[in-house]
Amino acid sequence: AWANVPQAPPDKILGLNILYQLDTNPNKIDLGVGAYRTDKGEPWIMPSIRMAEEILAKTETDKEYAPILGSPSFIDEVQRLLFNHDTSGYQLLADGRVVTAQGISGTGSLRVLSEFLAKFNPVCNAILPNPTWANHIAILQESGIVTSKYRYYDYKTNGLDIDGLIEDLQSADPRTVALFHLCCHNPTGVDATLEQWDQIIRVISERKLIPLLDMAYQGFESGDPIRDLRVLSKFNDAVTRGMIPTYLLAQSFAKNMGLYGERVGTLSIVCADSKEAEKVRSQLARVVRPMYSSPPTHGSKLATIVLGNTKVYRQWLKDVKKMVTRLNTMRTLLYDKLTIEYSSPVQWDHLLSQKGMFAYTGLNAEQVTKLRERKSVYMTSDGRISLAGITSGNVDYLAKSIDEVTRD
Ligand code: PMP
Repeated sequence: AWANVPQAPPDKILGLNILYQLDTNPNKIDLGVGAYRTDKGEPWIMPSIRMAEEILAKTETDKEYAPILGSPSFIDEVQRLLFNHDTSGYQLLADGRVVTAQGISGTGSLRVLSEFLAKFNPVCNAILPNPTWANHIAILQESGIVTSKYRYYDYKTNGLDIDGLIEDLQSADPRTVALFHLCCHNPTGVDATLEQWDQIIRVISERKLIPLLDMAYQGFESGDPIRDLRVLSKFNDAVTRGMIPTYLLAQSFAKNMGLYGERVGTLSIVCADSKEAEKVRSQLARVVRPMYSSPPTHGSKLATIVLGNTKVYRQWLKDVKKMVTRLNTMRTLLYDKLTIEYSSPVQWDHLLSQKGMFAYTGLNAEQVTKLRERKSVYMTSDGRISLAGITSGNVDYLAKSIDEVTRD
């Protein structure tokens, strides 16, 4: 019956993982993984999550369905986390202007927002940073939204092309959806500075663009999830000052709570007033109901405990700090080995200024292939490496291997 179904191209990251699994070299290194690993190269369940699991095991009374848009106690906690730390965010919440719903982690939340935009935004175009997380493009396109790119990464300076970015936003039509990574841009690790964000928000306001904000790595920039809300606060200010009427936000607890497979995240839409919010909420429920009916509950119950129980919350802040400290140690160690120990002729300073779980090395596709074939070092063809895959045990081999292929 399905003889005419064509073979779909393999997923790049999953394909890489298969090759890695088959590799018998004992020195092999997997730098494709987008999940945290300890210094022993192992997955990590955070102590705060262990604590939440214990509390949940004792207090859970049912495994019933959550409401279509997620459990109210979870939504309350997430709103407190995201909006209660700045006066503008607080004001938006107090005025009932923020609709928040649990989605299926960051991806599912983006997908629901994308369906909402396709239905209700009169302009079906979106502009995305070049490059961006590949799934952004697929998610929007699946909803029928036409995507194009705005300039973002400058391959000459390994930094942000702020002039190109501003110019491209300026030439977008009103109501075009403009997607931004709020912190720790994936794959480049390059973010706008706070001053540059002011500039960006001004253009959003002038050109009447619809900001779609993605925050998958809250906490990974500074090590503190609250401090990493600074850019979101700027958007809250812009809304309360009447500069922009709305923004849409997708966030995920996959990385900062290590709840990857539990699929915990939310979407929020900022509205003009509580009446508009009510209508938007009703339409979000209509989007979700025929897609998956209601979100999963185990992970969101854990996140509710983490955010709501003072002792667990304090532990969570420590856990995030610990992860980020290790990632940054590996970042510096790799840099030091390359530049000092191996005296690499290549300029690697960008490794130090990039933020988050990844480093965008600047290695080209040919060098990436050589690293894989000759050294059993696995990374995506754009030269992005996950710092989580680096340990004190393999960083020397990694630096030596990178140095060798860049001298070829
Ligand atoms: N946005 C970006 C930029 C990401 O890197 C990711 C995770 N790879 C996500 C969203 C969503 O991930 P998840 O669905 O696991 O929350």
